[in-house]
Amino acid sequence: APQIGVLALQGAFREHAQALGRLGAEVREVRLPADLADLSGVVMPGGESTTMRRLLAATGLGAALHDFHAAGGALWGTCAGAILLARQVTGDSNVPGLPPTLRLMDIAVQRNAYGRQVDSFTAPLDVVGLDAPFEAFFIRAPVMSGVGGTTEVLAEYDGLPVLVRQGRLMASTFHPELSGDDRLHGLFLELIAQK
Ligand code: GLN
Repeated sequence: APQIGVLALQGAFREHAQALGRLGAEVREVRLPADLADLSGVVMPGGESTTMRRLLAATGLGAALHDFHAAGGALWGTCAGAILLARQVTGDSNVPGLPPTLRLMDIAVQRNAYGRQVDSFTAPLDVVGLDAPFEAFFIRAPVMSGVGGTTEVLAEYDGLPVLVRQGRLMASTFHPELSGDDRLHGLFLELIAQK
């Protein structure tokens, strides 16, 4: 079985671990660099990205995740996790001393950009590779304001990308672990099996 980590510093990591477990993966919660040993992929959950950025820097996991990816590991960032992957982030409110994101993926995101009135909503998405729509939960989601390089768009909402892939990296602006539908976790395991 593939060994998959779920970043467990903060946020919605338990539901991700459960979904991956249902698909037959061996799942490990990741809190320290040593927890990455022998994993083939890591999911970074939704939560609060500025808190996660501080914790990634404080634990050394930020640098360790760079090494993990360079050595062939796959990463999937969901919501706050997608912000962690982005090369460019806006809406950060310029917190002094805030550590950078991992900046691994050619996407630009704007935090909390769906606005107050619709700051949380669900929408059925047509996803490349799935034969029926996926009901997606957006919770104070970032907007993916730009995608570049070799990034492929796998799903859009309202004309904007919400699920993208670039090599061994995947990012979604919604919370796939809340849908009771494990197909996107299955896509991540397929991406890992392909590489
Ligand atoms: N608004 C959060 C942030 O900017 C992300 C929301 C989420 O992960 N559900 O970090």
